Amino acid sequence: MAKDRGYKVLLPVEIVNGRVTGPLYGYHHPETGVFNVTSCGELSPLETGRPCARLGTLSDASSVAAGEGEGLIGRYIDNKPVFTCSGQDCELHYYALVQDVFSRNHGILETSALLHARAVISGCGSVGSQVALDLARSGVGNFFLIDNDQLAYHNLCRHQCGISDVGRLKVDAVRDRILEINRNAKVRVAPTIIERIAKDVWEAWLDHDTVIVGCADNREADVYANRLSQLYMAPFVSIGLWERAFAGELFWSIPGETPCYYCAFGAKTNNLSFRPSQNRRVYTTEEDLGKLTFEPGIAVDIGFVTNIGIKIALDLLGRGRRPMRLLDDIKQFTLVCNTTNVQVAGDLQEIFDHALQVTRSIDVEKHEECPHCRVAGKGREA
Ligand SMILES: [Zn+2]
Repeated sequence: MAKDRGYKVLLPVEIVNGRVTGPLYGYHHPETGVFNVTSCGELSPLETGRPCARLGTLSDASSVAAGEGEGLIGRYIDNKPVFTCSGQDCELHYYALVQDVFSRNHGILETSALLHARAVISGCGSVGSQVALDLARSGVGNFFLIDNDQLAYHNLCRHQCGISDVGRLKVDAVRDRILEINRNAKVRVAPTIIERIAKDVWEAWLDHDTVIVGCADNREADVYANRLSQLYMAPFVSIGLWERAFAGELFWSIPGETPCYYCAFGAKTNNLSFRPSQNRRVYTTEEDLGKLTFEPGIAVDIGFVTNIGIKIALDLLGRGRRPMRLLDDIKQFTLVCNTTNVQVAGDLQEIFDHALQVTRSIDVEKHEECPHCRVAGKGREA
């Protein structure tokens, strides 16, 4: 088929600009004749961990060795690469990672600013993996992924990663998916819980251009993340699902400007009377799964709540640089309802007027005695 259509080479412009030579790596698709070249000379960091083919060689015209004839053969002629495969000339298309990958975001998101922005994602399960990949698609360039769990088969129906990632650390699997979208992204991983990460790491990562996204399955992790947010003046957004993901809750705060998560909820339970008195956030861990008599949340319901959290995270990173899309309008504490069907929602369905409701009525007050607000901006003090 490639013979009818001819061969096509997609080549990173960075390889030509650097006049790089050496083995070519990437992906070959015989059905279309496309050679998708992703690196030359050395494997890119992503490909050291994932299967990737050796496609051929790019070399200087003057140093072509006899017998070098396998696969894709590239030579620089007058400083321009020329490719052949099986004796046929190949059509050459250049691509540039930043411009081409994010070209469809232009005019909507500030690509260059977001590439320098940072996201700390606490929890890389169904919520955190979606947050990570959508922020990567939006152009966020720096990620710190925190999760101590491994991907299991029962995660697949709600997680962004797949069968080839089962048995891996979730942080590693999500990192590789981020790099599939943006090879230039900087991704740090921590296969642990947020409470165990050292102070010097936070000092290097957290400031007002970092958003902390609380995606863990327990409120304590969000309380801890909120304190970090205050200490280092990094904006915070928490995304939490209720039972069966029939609804979810979003909370965002900007240290020094708004009440914080602790102001609103204290250490463990919230003090908003119409909300459940105990922590009912359930994504179901493996352990919980055995205890559950009802079905856990499905991906589309989790995704509906999570999407709003991602929009808030992008607003928090873009504030001062572009018009806010949600933050001028949405309350700090927002409940999102997927369904008011009593069979799914139980008694709690009374909270909502209708399915797909996004509340806009809940005000959060600043507490003068809040121990988290009191440490705002003091993270770098001894
Ligand atoms: Zn507070």
